[in-house]
Amino acid sequence: MTDVSTTDETTPKFSELGLHPLVLKAVEAQGYETPTPIQAETIPALLSGRDVIGLAQTGTGKTAAFALPALSDLAEAGRAADGPFALVLTPTRELAIQVAEAFTSYATELADFSVLPIYGGQAYGPQLAGLRRGAQIVVGTPGRVIDHLKRGSLKLGSLEHLILDEADEMLKMGFAEDIEEIFSQVGDNRQVALFSATMPTSIHRITGKYLNDPQEVRIASKSQTGANIRQRYFMVQHSHKLDALTRILEVEEYEGIIMFVRTKQATEELAEKLRARGFKASAINGDIPQQARERTVEMLRSGKVDVLVATDVAARGLDVERITLVVNYDIPHDTESYVHRIGRTGRAGRSGEAILFVTPREQRLLGSIERATKQRVEPLVLPSVEELTNTRVEKFTKRIDDVLATTELSELTAVIEQYELSRDVPATNIAAALASLVLESNTLKAEPMPEPVRGKPGRDRDGGRDGGRPARGGRARDENMTTYRLAVGRNERLQPGAVVGAIANEGGITSKQIGHIDIRSNHTLVDLPKDLDPSVLRKLSHTEIQGRPIDIRPDSGRPARPFKKRNFDKQPGDGRNFRNDRRGGKKFGTRSSDRSRDRF
Ligand code: AMP
Repeated sequence: MTDVSTTDETTPKFSELGLHPLVLKAVEAQGYETPTPIQAETIPALLSGRDVIGLAQTGTGKTAAFALPALSDLAEAGRAADGPFALVLTPTRELAIQVAEAFTSYATELADFSVLPIYGGQAYGPQLAGLRRGAQIVVGTPGRVIDHLKRGSLKLGSLEHLILDEADEMLKMGFAEDIEEIFSQVGDNRQVALFSATMPTSIHRITGKYLNDPQEVRIASKSQTGANIRQRYFMVQHSHKLDALTRILEVEEYEGIIMFVRTKQATEELAEKLRARGFKASAINGDIPQQARERTVEMLRSGKVDVLVATDVAARGLDVERITLVVNYDIPHDTESYVHRIGRTGRAGRSGEAILFVTPREQRLLGSIERATKQRVEPLVLPSVEELTNTRVEKFTKRIDDVLATTELSELTAVIEQYELSRDVPATNIAAALASLVLESNTLKAEPMPEPVRGKPGRDRDGGRDGGRPARGGRARDENMTTYRLAVGRNERLQPGAVVGAIANEGGITSKQIGHIDIRSNHTLVDLPKDLDPSVLRKLSHTEIQGRPIDIRPDSGRPARPFKKRNFDKQPGDGRNFRNDRRGGKKFGTRSSDRSRDRF
């Protein structure tokens, strides 16, 4: 029998879920305020030892939902048996890498922790070495996992956790047989967590056959959004959100705005950036004492503050009539939060506006929001350069009108007249000079914005897009590819997703055209097609990742500056374990805010 649980109104704290203190500490360091609904339901069930079926999509926090209990159990067991402690199966190599990075970020407090991603398309050598060294968590695509089982390099006899991530995707990709084979090699004494966005009969068959009295976790969604709220979305990479936002706000009419972000840190960071751009912005989050929060809300009410940047928790129950616009700067984890968030506007029978930023990877969430709310979220068209410029001119003209209409200026007029006569300069030139002082610029012209992203980066099936790491000296492994060097690397906390996103989106090529990515400490090697159109390279030459120009150029084989190979140079492309060595060295991939997936 399967019992079905749904979320209720009271969200527990992470500290109430029963996680191991070392795991809890790492989660708190991530800045997560409260568990997402899928986490709140799944973590206690998994910690109690039950098998779980989680119906959840990307962006709901499902990775932490399965990673945290597995790591808690590992911390408890403190074991280094022969063979991995947990195996996570993912449909694609990108997801395998992301999941491995997430594990690393939640395991920062565990001594000698190691996780190994294994996927097709990568040379066997490093994977074999990683497995020999004994990875506690293996994250792999089914095909490659089977290959290692056949070779005897991976043994699942002492496996305690088997996790299937995006199970429906794996079945769609034809991995059913491989998955069954993997189940048959895992002993009975294991816990299974299966996550899937949908529940086709093929998944029912697997869960019925291999899961033991599973608890099914489904997140109930409240689906009523106010009809008086116009909802629009804008597809944008994370790094362009702020630019897009400021452009949108230049032309939107609004009184008060509430802007939602994912973490407490992000509320402060965004409020700061908005203040630097001249907005009256303030942050509220769960760390700010209640009284101070109330003061901030009062300031929004009275117009001393126009933009409130908030987390879900801090904005709970907020009722300020003046809010005419809700911006989902980060897409919420679930439909229920979305409905709750946009309900902060359109109060007291007024109409409201809701704008949602969606990164290419989060496209699926947009679909589920539309399905659950049974409302279409319209695409937002970013104002054109002309529109922006015209709006600026109009606003500036209005400022002049207002001053002329309301201010006694005869004293200043005399000064200007004096200037005009003594310097013999036309009054319009003097006015323009003064305008440039006021504007701190000599133009009102807007700059063009990089094109919004239309499609989502494709994902490779098992087998990957390459045949291993690129050779040095511009010679990629694939003879149709050339290796390029980017001037950003792990020191900038670069993640593979950011490289794919930046190159695909800015260069206007598909992610399938991008070959192997090898992130080194101070640079990154990436394989791109030999016959790449020069216009693509030109576009890429202006590309920045995390505010740094990538300075793309064919790799000459010489490092930009000598660097010593150290433990922390290990990374997914190497196929070597990500290992937390508490005695020294940096840890790889400890930030999961970057895993918000398109942060570049
Ligand atoms: P996932 O659905 O696992 O792909 O997670 C989506 C994003 O949400 C990732 O960037 C996570 O780091 C982030 N995330 C996961 N859990 C939480 C949480 N409880 N609070 C805030 N962000 C979270």
